[in-house]
Amino acid sequence: MKKETFWDKKIETADRKILDSLKLKQLKRLVGYALRTVFYKSRLKAVGISSPRDIRSLKDLARIPFTTKDDLRECYPNGLLSVPMSRVVRIHTSSGTTGIPTVIHHTQKDLNSWTDLVARSISATGAGKQDIFQNMMTYGMFTGGLGLHYGAERVGMTVIPMGGGNTRRQIQIMRDFGTTVLHITPSYMLHLYSMLSECGATLKDFKLKKAYLGAEPYSEDTRSKIEKMWQIDAYNSYGLSEMNGPGVAFECVYKTGMHVWEDVYHVEIVDPKTGELLDDGLEGELVFTNLLREATPLLRYRTRDMAAILKGSCPCGRTHRRLSRITGRTDDMLIINGVNVYPSQIESVVMKMPEVGNNYQICLEKDGALDSLTVKIEISSRMFQGDLGLIDRLKERIKESLRASIVINPRVELHEPGSLPVFEGKAKRVVDNRIKI
Ligand code: AMP
Ligand code: ZN
Repeated sequence: MKKETFWDKKIETADRKILDSLKLKQLKRLVGYALRTVFYKSRLKAVGISSPRDIRSLKDLARIPFTTKDDLRECYPNGLLSVPMSRVVRIHTSSGTTGIPTVIHHTQKDLNSWTDLVARSISATGAGKQDIFQNMMTYGMFTGGLGLHYGAERVGMTVIPMGGGNTRRQIQIMRDFGTTVLHITPSYMLHLYSMLSECGATLKDFKLKKAYLGAEPYSEDTRSKIEKMWQIDAYNSYGLSEMNGPGVAFECVYKTGMHVWEDVYHVEIVDPKTGELLDDGLEGELVFTNLLREATPLLRYRTRDMAAILKGSCPCGRTHRRLSRITGRTDDMLIINGVNVYPSQIESVVMKMPEVGNNYQICLEKDGALDSLTVKIEISSRMFQGDLGLIDRLKERIKESLRASIVINPRVELHEPGSLPVFEGKAKRVVDNRIKI
């Protein structure tokens, strides 16, 4: 029997009719806030919406044009603010390192509703007051740190606000305080394991039971690998700063996809090229509307994340639909000699191989007129003790599997453990040195 806890059972198991009527009420309120901004006022007027009363059903949302990341950048810094600054209690931005960041202002009410959704997410994994929670996500403008922090406190967990980095100290604190739940990126979780022996630690030194893994794409094989090596349950956690941050969608104890908290997040999957709405089961770009926003209302925000809404129901009894794993972003798609490749395709091939260690990198160069792809992979140290023929054969096998999956011929380099760059926050797996046109 799985240990199941609800934070707000009535809402989490509410039937569609109840959810929809609640959502409609919230959408009207949201449109009221949006109409206070110059940006949305003209946009909404153009489609015949000049008052919340013009929204009569949830279907009216489809009349409203999408909001894009570029729209948010044009509004930098305060162009989308719909309340007086005196009501704003916190500002967050996206973690993007290039260009102008997207800014989200929060009222106290905005923060309260976010915290509540994180508490709901944590409870869905069966964690609670009894747990010691070590938060290894970066604190600051990035929403991963503070978002989970307040939710975990609301649940009553004992929170250790470590933030990212300083691996030795993280391991020591995990050991000294008997940490039972981690919040961490999947790439850092793999790195943490590879540092255990160097820190004189073994699994027996820890009380770890669960890890919340998010902030970057990763494959089902990476999850299994982490669960096996650490002997824990790893839960997928999804969010983005434009929709508050973590707590948009989270896995429950059954780990059958991430429940989107639909009373708050209206979710649509659209064809990334045409914007056409897609049915459940089909993969496309995720579009979200946070129905409870006050300070920064966003209507139909195009996330650039690719996923599908899963069909069928979850044994936990929650009625909120589930998202598949994020398979990539519409903008991280690589075009290599004309072939579209998602980094996640390469990761699933690489992480399936038991000989592969904990880190890899995808490098792109120009080779004359053509693109060349090199996949650098760390392999386990025992492979280096064997004969060279073994390494050559492994290289060929990886090459072969990659070729079958991505339909192009990569170069494969095998590296010793610990030799590729390590990231404490989101991993940067792709190094693209081709000249951009
Ligand atoms: P930020 O707004 O800086 O927090 O970045 C949010 C982005 O991180 C999302 O739009 C996704 O592309 C990515 N992300 C967050 N959680 C996950 C996850 N569980 N799986 C895959 N990608 C994720
Ligand atoms: Zn469930």
